[in-house]
Parts: sequence; C-alpha cells; structure tokens
Amino acid sequence: MARITLSLDRPTGNFWIDTGLVVLIQQFGEGEHEAEEVLRKLVDRLVQKTGKSGVYFDQATGQFREYEKVNWVYPTNLFIKVSGVAPKIEIQINGKKEKFFTQPPVFDLSLKLRKSKNPCDICGDVVPLTDAKMWMYPFVVEPGKFGTFYPGTKRGLKLCARCALAGLAGYLGWLWKAQGRNALHFFIFHADLREMKRLHEEVLRPLQTKGSGGGTAPVAFFGPYLHETTLGLLLALFAHVPESDRLSETARRLLATLLGASAEAPPSAVTLYAVTGKPGQAFNMQALREFSRLQPLYRLYEQWRQRLQEIAPNPHQRLVDVFRQFQQRRDGDTETLWRDRIARAILEFDDPLPFVEQFLFEARAREEHPRPLTPGTLDVLNHYIQEVLGMEEQFRRTLAGFGHTLGAAAHEHNEMGLLYSLRNARNPEDFYRVLNDAQFRLEITVPEALLQLERGERIAGVPWGRVKTLLAIYAMNAYLRRSAPQTETSQPTEQEE
Ligand SMILES: [Zn+2]
Repeated sequence: MARITLSLDRPTGNFWIDTGLVVLIQQFGEGEHEAEEVLRKLVDRLVQKTGKSGVYFDQATGQFREYEKVNWVYPTNLFIKVSGVAPKIEIQINGKKEKFFTQPPVFDLSLKLRKSKNPCDICGDVVPLTDAKMWMYPFVVEPGKFGTFYPGTKRGLKLCARCALAGLAGYLGWLWKAQGRNALHFFIFHADLREMKRLHEEVLRPLQTKGSGGGTAPVAFFGPYLHETTLGLLLALFAHVPESDRLSETARRLLATLLGASAEAPPSAVTLYAVTGKPGQAFNMQALREFSRLQPLYRLYEQWRQRLQEIAPNPHQRLVDVFRQFQQRRDGDTETLWRDRIARAILEFDDPLPFVEQFLFEARAREEHPRPLTPGTLDVLNHYIQEVLGMEEQFRRTLAGFGHTLGAAAHEHNEMGLLYSLRNARNPEDFYRVLNDAQFRLEITVPEALLQLERGERIAGVPWGRVKTLLAIYAMNAYLRRSAPQTETSQPTEQEE
C-alpha cells in the first residue's frame, strides 16, 4: 500500500497542487498517511446525493431495490468525469433482456501506480508514478480545453501519489462564482504553504459564502468576465482589512500583513490566479490570469477610501458603487464589458480612461434619462491618474476646470454634438479644430496650458490622446449633470472646485 508524506515545508510551487496540499494538511495533518484512505475520504467529500433514485437488482433476495443516486458536487462535476460503476446482470423483463446493476454504483477513483520509480513531474520525487488524469489536475490532461494555457504539458503528466492526491484535494480549496450557463470563475490564492494554510483557515473560510448555488467566493459585484469578477472579489476581501464583522482580530491582522497594510515585515507576496470558462457538459476555459500585485492594489484601495471619506458616509460602499456602475441593461440582459475593461486596466495598473469615456458616451449619454457618473467616480479616477498614470496635479486641475466649463456651456447652447466631435478627435489637429470650434460657438476660452503641443504629440508632458479623453470625460459628465434632475447624483464633487 502506498503511503504519502505531507509537510508544510515541502511546497511544489504549483498553485493547484499546493492548494491541494494545504487542504490535505488541514484534513489529515502533517506526517505519513495511507494513500487509499486519503483518496476515499476526499471522494466522500466530493460526491453528494442528487435527490434522484435508481434501481438495482439485489441477487440475494431476487428483488429490485431503490438506491439514492449520487454525483460529483458542482462545479467539480465539470472536471471529474468518472462515473459510478457496479457489476451488472442481465434480466429478462416482458421478454426483453435488460441490464441492471447488482448493487448501487460506486464513485471510485483509483491511483494506479507503476512499479518502477521515476521523478514526479511536479515535485521531482523519485517514486512510483501514475499517469495524470483530469481528476488529479484539470489544467494539463485535456489539451483541447487547457492545452493553449499550458502548451508545454501536452504529452501528459506523470505524478507521484502525493501530488495526485493533492491535485484531487485542489478541487476543495478553490473559491468559485458561477453565473448560470454564462460563466464559471474560480480563484486560487497562492504563496508560501504556511501562509496559504492560515489564509484559508482564518480568512477565506470564514468569508466564504455558503449554501448558495452561485458559488463560494465573496464578491462585491460580478459578471460574466474575468477581470470585473476578480476586482469584485478583491474589493470584498479588502473591505475586511480596516475593520471586520466577520473575521477575528488575528485573522484581520493576518490579511493586513499579507496585503502589506500593516507595519509588520512584509511576507512573501500573495498571488491570485483567476480562471474563467463556460460551464456546460464540461468546462471550457476562456481565460487564466495571474495577479501578483495585490499589495499595491490594496494601497490604492486604502487611498481611495480616504479620498471618498469626504463625500460618502461609507467610503467602501461608494467605491464599490463607482466600479459597479459601468454596466448597462440591454434587452433584458446586463452588459458589463466596460466594467471588465476598466477592472482589467486597474488590476494591471494600466489606463482605464478610454473605457470610462466609451461608457459615458456610448451608454450613459444615450440612455433615455441620461445620468452623470456616480458621485465619487471622478475622485477615484483623479487619484488614479495622479498616482498610477503620473499626471501632474496642477495640469489635471486645469483640465478638470476647463472640462467643466466646456460641458456646462455645451449644455447651455444645446451642443452635445460638440462633445461627440471632441470624443471622436483622431489626432492633435482634429483635437485643436474642435477646441477652436468650441471657443467660437460656446464663447469660452481654452486654457493656455492646452495649446502647446510638444514633441511626441504631448500636451504638458501627457500624450495628447489622454488629454482629449480626460477632457471628454469631464465635459460630458458636467453636461449630463446639468441635464439630470437635481437629485443626490447631481451633487457637485471635487472637480468643480
Ligand atoms: Zn509529486
């Protein structure tokens, strides 16, 4: 009988297998274990009753008996395709031969280890190996589904018993969020094994949503795309760092340390793996991304909260509302592509402005009763523009001030078309032509800082396109604020200083 040795000192560096090792150590403890027993207990946790029943033929009594059907728990059943087996017998019923199980079928996985010893593809141990199956490691053994993401492993993996069982346990360690037939997202946190074990036990488990068909991942918002849902997950986690009603004080401090929010020595960085695919008969992977800059993201989150504190009683919720808004109802469906693109830019410390501009002009401005952006949106963007995109504060304020004047004057003269011409400017010449036009038709003055085109098509050191985009956002938002009924959403915020 094969035995496996579990130790927190022996990570493999593979995010899936290491997640499984953490689950195994939580369940069985460190030390030596009998492989078959570990396998049996894992299968028990991954199989559940379906609520349906079947019949088998009991040979001892010569009678048919009912049994409760079982299957792999969702969403594991999209990956583990092994079905229940039992011996069958042929019986004549009304002159027709039919086959029946002689006992309830058993959902069994087996570890077929070779006699010879070779190095395991994951951990390198020289021991008897088995051919990796999908139930051990979904990412490598189905080239059609995962091969594009792991092209180097198409030959098939050979795993030792420990890695194979950790692979199966991996299914119990992920967080997931499903959206019917549209999308299944799953998330795996990865760092040092000890930290990951504490993260799972103290933080993720208490925060996991339970008993809902939609998943186990706590999210501030979600949609069919990977980046928006990932940002939704991170915001939900970040909320527990400053204060928490769900986590113990130790757990809260652990999370703070892992995210670099406390004074304690920064631990090894936590990485988040996010996978999205379409659930169907199987899982069709569409994206797999690695996010390793969670600490700078958390710092950004903290700064945003501080900034929003001035205008909102619950700055976390306001921040969530700011990101959540980039969606639109369309034919009974919610389109969230803008939110996904904005989320991707933020998660990658890239430029979200073009997508905000697109959303404002293509979605908001075309609504039946157009609304401006959620109050606080410009504060969130302004902070990002300064901290991440490095735009100089004074120039940004000049743009904000002029954008506001432009939007207000366009509203007064009923010239929304001018704002679309601004948005559509394709080069600096176009841009200046529109500004000139605005100056003439709206009788406003363009600030001098905008008029100097520098080398490399920059204005005040900023690529002209970004200046145009930002100006279009400020102007359209001011325009929409004037059009909207005077409600809470039309409160002036910082950009009107
Ligand atoms: Zn191994």
